[in-house]
Amino acid sequence: MKKLNFAIILIGLTTLSLKSNATPIINVSQISPIDSAKKATVDPVCKMKVKAETAKITVYNKVTYNFCSESCKQKFAAEPTKYIHK
Ligand SMILES: [Zn+2]
Repeated sequence: MKKLNFAIILIGLTTLSLKSNATPIINVSQISPIDSAKKATVDPVCKMKVKAETAKITVYNKVTYNFCSESCKQKFAAEPTKYIHK
């Protein structure tokens, strides 16, 4: 009976280690969208390159737009279709 108990503990440990190995894979997929948001983008109003960390951000039609200044953001908010070229 002691051998059987040992086998059950081993199976339990293996299952635990498998779960802990799977966790980093899930974290990587959660981090990648944030990394893509950090890329330098172009201000659609004045065409300046804008760094995401200093940008004024507006979300329009589920797309994030970065602006160099509050005035560019307001111009876009007034007439978004004028600056979006599909
Ligand atoms: Zn601008």
